[in-house]
Amino acid sequence: MVGVGEVKITPPTGTPMAGFSARQGPSRGVHDDLFVRTLVVSRGETSVALVTCEVIGVDRPLVEEIRRRAAGQTGLPAESILIAATHTHSGPVLQGEYQDFFVRSAVESIVQAWRARRPRKLASGVAPHGGWVGMNRRRLETGFSPVDKEIQVLKVTDSRGGVEAVLFNYPCHPACLGPDNLLISADWPYFAAQRLRERLRKTVKVLYFQGTQGNINTGYSAGLSALGVPIPTRTFTYARELGDIIAGAILSKLPAIPSQSGGALSSRRDTVALENYIPSTLEEARSKLEQAGRQVEELAHAAAPPPRLDAARVERAFAEYSLKRLERNLKERQREYPAEIQTIRVGDAAFVSFPGEFFVEVGLEVKKRSPFATTFCLGLANDNLGYFPTPEAYAEGGYEVSVARFGPRSATSWQDAAARLLEVHR
Ligand SMILES: [Zn+2]
Repeated sequence: MVGVGEVKITPPTGTPMAGFSARQGPSRGVHDDLFVRTLVVSRGETSVALVTCEVIGVDRPLVEEIRRRAAGQTGLPAESILIAATHTHSGPVLQGEYQDFFVRSAVESIVQAWRARRPRKLASGVAPHGGWVGMNRRRLETGFSPVDKEIQVLKVTDSRGGVEAVLFNYPCHPACLGPDNLLISADWPYFAAQRLRERLRKTVKVLYFQGTQGNINTGYSAGLSALGVPIPTRTFTYARELGDIIAGAILSKLPAIPSQSGGALSSRRDTVALENYIPSTLEEARSKLEQAGRQVEELAHAAAPPPRLDAARVERAFAEYSLKRLERNLKERQREYPAEIQTIRVGDAAFVSFPGEFFVEVGLEVKKRSPFATTFCLGLANDNLGYFPTPEAYAEGGYEVSVARFGPRSATSWQDAAARLLEVHR
């Protein structure tokens, strides 16, 4: 039994937007509406829900509240509900009245999906794309790799084979649009969904789930973006091109995915202890920032070429982020954070939760080690804990490392926990 729910969460004009510290002013209008979408699957006594919210991230307390309230109104156990964010950078900040509305809407979307359950067929598979959508933003000079060009797809069809819903998973920041955009939008996933509905049928529900996209965006420097430097490709036109590539790859694969009824259904959870990252003393971090500041001043004084000055300003920003992170982590009395990892099996497919922005290498490794034909790596799921770089990346530094809350072992612990849980489902 499968049901889909879809509830609009577009914030009113004038709402503060999340995603860029360089953005100035609240939303001025709406380019495309935002939604919370839910897929519920039941078999016998077992039910699971996969929820995707078009917001920047959903913190653990909100996840728990949505789960609890949805469980109270359905037959779903709270622990078999997975709640993910798409991480759009043109959505609202979750706070105040809007946050209450968001929670109510997410619950409503789950209840709607629960009540809409009918006998349906599910099929899952992998659709590779040949173009460039996600690019490794830490490797802009050396070919944009590693990246993940696979799209995981789950198809819901009715008894006559008509497509009712498509769930897809692909790692790439929905931050094609930059800080200058003040229109609410789901970013490139909106255009992918729009094209799928155009080509299949208007009523098809499309559920996009983020992947392990920590170091993957649409091809620009995260450092310059953080400074608010304008980047010419950050337009709705380019977002549409990217959405078309993704939709095209899904459409060419969709008919070839054989539908199947039945299959196992299960949900498991475990806890992974994440260690707060304390890479240096406060004094060291402060002197690093001072040094970076002096470098900027010297270059400015010497009228250095703009790219060199920008690079120095980026380094200063990173030193500032590192110092703030260190101050925060030193204040935390708890040195370890117990994070939840969840895995869900639906027939030949498995879903793994990642509670933040993991580097693409982590998802690739989890897929490689998974015993399932199709493994969905769902980023920003069940929590919103920031960046999880690979151990190698900590040695290199850079934007994500300068703001990462947890240490170099976190990503590998997650990989191992995922592999362990996936074995249990088998
Ligand atoms: Zn991000």
